[in-house]
Amino acid sequence: MTDERARRRGGASLAPTKPESPRTAPSPAERTSVARPGEKRPFLLDFFPLETARDTRLSKFYDRLREGRLSTTRCPKDGVLLWPPRTACPKCHSEDLEWVDLPERGRVYAFSAVLAGAPLGMENEVPFPVGLVDLDGVALRLFGRIEGAPWTSLRVGQAVRVEAYDLNDGRVFYRFRVAP
Ligand SMILES: [Zn+2]
Repeated sequence: MTDERARRRGGASLAPTKPESPRTAPSPAERTSVARPGEKRPFLLDFFPLETARDTRLSKFYDRLREGRLSTTRCPKDGVLLWPPRTACPKCHSEDLEWVDLPERGRVYAFSAVLAGAPLGMENEVPFPVGLVDLDGVALRLFGRIEGAPWTSLRVGQAVRVEAYDLNDGRVFYRFRVAP
């Protein structure tokens, strides 16, 4: 019986499995476990998105973040505030969306900590807190890293503010910092 006939009948293939190809020696980039500032990360292990207009239609989000403004898109037709920013409104499918700045402050809704298994480039930073933050005045709950206090001293309801930070490779991202 051929493999195809066995598969269609729901039977297991009796064909011998191919031997695994011998593992090739890791390249110098693979041997390096921690990406240094300015060093290009292997794409599949890159924790952060590509941000230029060539790579994403949401490049304005990052352009505005470089100016210290956390922003998102809103559909002017039905007023839906979208997070994360989108290129089309999920309600009316309009692509005619507007960019709006978001509040800079919020409160921790819930948090946890990364104690192990941190993404590439963050191995030396564990433990660090991450959490969900309710932004002041809008119905948005954002996930992000929280700086400025050890996770053991964070509390639900803690006031935080948004900050942009430089990834040292031409990109930026946002995170939260404990606010006084
Ligand atoms: Zn809409």
